[in-house]
Amino acid sequence: RISTSDIIEPQRICVCVRKRPLNKQELTKKDLDVVSVPGKGALLVHEPKQKVDLTKYLDNHIFQFDYSFNENATNDQVYNFTAKPLVQSIFEGSMATCFAYGQTGSGKTHTMGGDFTGKQQNSSKGIYALAAQDVFTNINHRRYASLDLSAFVSFFEIYNGKVYDLLNKKAKLRVLEDDRQQVNVVGLEEVYVTKAEEVIKMIQIGSACRTSGQTSANANSSRSHAILQIVLRRKKGALHGKFSLIDLAGNERGTDVSSNDRSTLVETAEINQSLLALKECIRSLGKNSDYIPFRMSTLTKVLRDSFIGEKSKTCMIAMVSPSMSSCEYTMNTLRYADRVK
Ligand code: ADP
Ligand code: MG
Repeated sequence: RISTSDIIEPQRICVCVRKRPLNKQELTKKDLDVVSVPGKGALLVHEPKQKVDLTKYLDNHIFQFDYSFNENATNDQVYNFTAKPLVQSIFEGSMATCFAYGQTGSGKTHTMGGDFTGKQQNSSKGIYALAAQDVFTNINHRRYASLDLSAFVSFFEIYNGKVYDLLNKKAKLRVLEDDRQQVNVVGLEEVYVTKAEEVIKMIQIGSACRTSGQTSANANSSRSHAILQIVLRRKKGALHGKFSLIDLAGNERGTDVSSNDRSTLVETAEINQSLLALKECIRSLGKNSDYIPFRMSTLTKVLRDSFIGEKSKTCMIAMVSPSMSSCEYTMNTLRYADRVK
C-alpha cells in the first residue's frame, strides 16, 4: 500500500521567504525590526513599534508565499521545506534548482553554505551540506539500488556574464550551445564523490577559490552568482538527475544608480539582466510555457536544462533583513519573489 506521504509531489515552483534576526551592528545602531511573519506563508512589512494589524496593511505590505520563515527558523527547518523535496526529485529524474535571492547581508550564504560543516560554534550546516547528506542517504538506499547511480559535483561562478570554475583555479570557461540547443560549459570540472564529506570538501575548496585569485578582478562574492551542482549519473555516464544550488549575486545594485564608475555600472547592468532573465524563466516554467527565454543571460543559459522539460522543479528562497534601514531593499526583494510565483 502507498501511504499519502509517498505520493506528495513537490510543486514545480516553490517561493519562500526567510527573515534573519537583527544583527549586532543593527542593534548597536538601534535599528528597528519592521518585518513580521504572522502566519504560515505570510510576511508583513510594517512601521516599527506599531501593532501589527493585518487588515490595515492588506493592500500594501503583506505578502503571501509558500512558506515564510521568521528569525527563529533554523537552516534545518528551511531545508526541509525547500531543498529536501528537490533532492528527492532528482532521484526520480528531475532537473532541480534552488536559488538564494536577496540583498548582500540578508543571509543567502548563511542559508546555502552555513559554515559547511556545522562544527563551528553557533553555526549550523547549510543547505549545501544537508542536501549532500540526503543525496548519499538515497544513493545507498535499496529503493534506488537498481539505478546504480554515481554522484558528481561541479562548482562555478558567474561574474559579469563569464563562467569561472571554482574547482579548477577559477579557469575561465566557455558556454556553448549546440544545434540541439543543449548548453555546455566546456571543460567544467566534475568531481566524482562518494560521501557527503567529500562534497563539503569541494565546497570549501571552491569557496576559498571564490574569494581569492585575480581572474575575475576584485570581484567579491556579492557581485557574482555561485552555482553548486550535484549531478546523478547512471552507468556509462548517462545523466539521471541534477540539482543546482545557486547563491545569487546581491540584488541591491538595481537601486544604486549613483555610481559613476564604469566597471560598477557594467557589473550592475549584468546582475540586473541575469536576475530579470531568471524571473522570466521561472515564470515561464510556472506557466508551462513552451518558450523559455533562457538566452537572456549566462546564468539562465547554463541552467537551461533545468528550465526545460516536464520534470523541472525550482525553489526560490528570498532572504530579507528585518531592519528599517533595509526596508527599501526588502520591499524590492519581496516584490521580485512575488512576481516569480
Ligand atoms: P549574504 O550572503 O546574503 O550577503 P550572509 O549569509 O553572509 O549574507 O549573512 C550576513 C551575516 O548575517 C552573516 O554574518 C551571517 O552569519 C548572518 N546571518 C544571516 N542569516 C542569519 C540567520 N538566519 N541567523 C543568524 N545569523 C544570520
Ligand atoms: Mg554571500
